[in-house]
Amino acid sequence: MITPTRSPQVAFVPMRAQVARIHEVSPTFRRFTLTGPEIATVADNRLDQRFKILFPTPTAGLDAMPLDDEWYAAWRELDNDARPPMRTYTVREVRSESAEFDVDIAVHGRLGPASSWALDARPGDEIVVCVPHTGFAGDFHGGIDFRPPAGVERILIAADETALPAVSGILERFPASATGIAVIEVPHADDAAALAVPPPGVEVRVVARGQDPTGTLLVPAVQQAAETVLAPSTGSTEAFEDIDIEAGILWDVPTDAAGNPLLERGPFYAWLAGEASPIKQLRRHLVRDRGVDRRSVAFMGYWRAGRPEM
Ligand SMILES: Cc1cc2nc3c(=O)[nH]c(=O)nc-3n(C[C@H](O)[C@H](O)[C@H](O)COP(=O)(O)OP(=O)(O)OC[C@H]3O[C@@H](n4cnc5c(N)ncnc54)[C@H](O)[C@@H]3O)c2cc1C
Repeated sequence: MITPTRSPQVAFVPMRAQVARIHEVSPTFRRFTLTGPEIATVADNRLDQRFKILFPTPTAGLDAMPLDDEWYAAWRELDNDARPPMRTYTVREVRSESAEFDVDIAVHGRLGPASSWALDARPGDEIVVCVPHTGFAGDFHGGIDFRPPAGVERILIAADETALPAVSGILERFPASATGIAVIEVPHADDAAALAVPPPGVEVRVVARGQDPTGTLLVPAVQQAAETVLAPSTGSTEAFEDIDIEAGILWDVPTDAAGNPLLERGPFYAWLAGEASPIKQLRRHLVRDRGVDRRSVAFMGYWRAGRPEM
């Protein structure tokens, strides 16, 4: 396979990746260590750096996948059956020196192509990843939504298992000046094993929901944590508008086009990610009921129970 020349103007590039190892981290998480000829060029940005995976299916092999800068348009033009499904994941850890990086996939049965692949994958299997690369000449690759203002003192984090790898990346680069509470809802208590060790200023609260719907425990636990992290409620002075999660995606991140925080400085920042319904409830609680400035809160209700990734 010929490696395409990479433009320094392009932040994310597609490349073939091979499963080097699989580690059963916990009942829900399988950690895939990926390697390949270009994997040493994956940028180590940590935090909640997202990337794309394209999964092979019985009808959509990877050989038809273009790996140059025009890949996206070409991928979209492939026939439905021949187009490898694409899903979003988080870079868990990069080890450039050994040309490896890890992704933690929460398996949830065989409903989706990503989870099905994760259940069946073996060392040697191949996927295509679209990742931030070190050859990019810009300052910021994008795909990172944990962008607190300068001088932040208190941080509130809320996540379900799909955002747990991102929380780990955030805890590993947590702002030195800040303290905070991270609430994470997972299917099993043992899934806490997938989480990075928090810095001393962060209290981690893991809640295990068992068979209950996603968000059952997250919403009350985050509301309780907000009591500690926030100043007393003022109620919102701004008109509050709910986002219709049936019609669109709940993705409200307070940054400008260049990825800079909308608030230059601020004492408080919240980052909430996971299934849309609890994230929508928490948005309402923080912004409408608790009067939090929406420029201090990143909400990402990016997956919908009962629906494939949009
Ligand atoms: C920015 C970002 C970062 C992400 N990072 C990670 C990550 O590091 N690790 C990770 O595991 N996930 C991560 N996700 C979530 C992942 O992309 C979704 O869970 C995705 O829908 C899984 O694809 P699928 O093919 O398995 O299921 P889909 O084909 O998308 O959906 C099929 C069915 O499965 C349901 N479903 C999807 N995900 C879950 C789930 N986790 N639990 C239960 N039911 C589910 C859907 O509602 C639908 O009914 C991330 C998502 C985003 C947007």
